[in-house]
Amino acid sequence: MCQHCKDSSAPNPSHFEEGDGLANSPAHIDMAWSEYNELIKGMRFFDPHIHMVSRTTDDYQAMRQAGIVALIEPSFWVGQPRTGLSSFKDYYSSLVGWERFRSSQFGIKHYCTMGLNSREANNEPLAEQVMEILPLYIYKEGVVGIGEIGFDDQTPAEEKYYRLQLELAKEAKLPVQIHTPHRDKKRGTERSMAIALEHGLDPSWVIIDHNNEETVKSVLDQGFYAAFTIYPFTKMGNERMVKVVEQYGPERIMVNSAADWGISDPLAIPKTAALMKMRGISDETIRMVTYQNAIDAFGKSGQIDVSDFESGLSVEKTEKFHGNSILRGGQQPDVSKDSLVIQ
Ligand SMILES: [Zn+2]
Repeated sequence: MCQHCKDSSAPNPSHFEEGDGLANSPAHIDMAWSEYNELIKGMRFFDPHIHMVSRTTDDYQAMRQAGIVALIEPSFWVGQPRTGLSSFKDYYSSLVGWERFRSSQFGIKHYCTMGLNSREANNEPLAEQVMEILPLYIYKEGVVGIGEIGFDDQTPAEEKYYRLQLELAKEAKLPVQIHTPHRDKKRGTERSMAIALEHGLDPSWVIIDHNNEETVKSVLDQGFYAAFTIYPFTKMGNERMVKVVEQYGPERIMVNSAADWGISDPLAIPKTAALMKMRGISDETIRMVTYQNAIDAFGKSGQIDVSDFESGLSVEKTEKFHGNSILRGGQQPDVSKDSLVIQ
């Protein structure tokens, strides 16, 4: 994702649609956190697509409180074009370094995927240099795949670097996380899958992201994982997500927030889980689409050990990363946000 909002003329699929069943249970719309939190009490969540470098410590706290115990941060574009290789290097380093540490300080296990995003694949001189340094990062601890890669405008340059990175994934034996385009999505999704198969990738190692009702059947039928982004206004709303799970069941389906620097919701997964629970979807199905399937798919990297987070990541508050801490002057990372008085 990451490019999602730029086409404001695109239809808005995530607003409530006509006859989508709201009349059956209108109560949830205004449901407060304290109420829906009860529905998902004790559940654990894994967000396999979220851009934490763009998010605040408040988000980390709220996510942990809502049951998110682990996440994957895909490499993406940062909202404006990078001007040189150093920007890529610093960004990749932060994904395996500072951001990973920051997440750990809030009790959330942080993984990432490494890749050259489709948008910046169009800057070929820079893309060439990025391809040269990528192998230095993909074998680092916590890297669970090559991603997010694929198509944006579906240009020849995008295809070239998509293919090169598929080869890199094969060589490194890493899963692939594929961003599908916002415009001309169906064609872009089919093309992404056809090329992955052409390169000999096992579809069970490939996670096709940002699906919708139009793409899901083909993705599942061909043996790929189908990820769904719950993103306000431009992608899926969670009402629609519930229906997809009702129709297709939980196998190889996963939900993510893709929260980033745009208007997005880092609690998209717990909220969707609560909505599923309200609609009578079983706890086991909820567990698969909000936790287990992501672990199964990205765990093929050999990098995910669930014992690291399934009973809660222990937080060592005095820990430092290269001499730096998230704490200022000895404060605690788990400050209550509900209190008026800031101590
Ligand atoms: Zn993204």
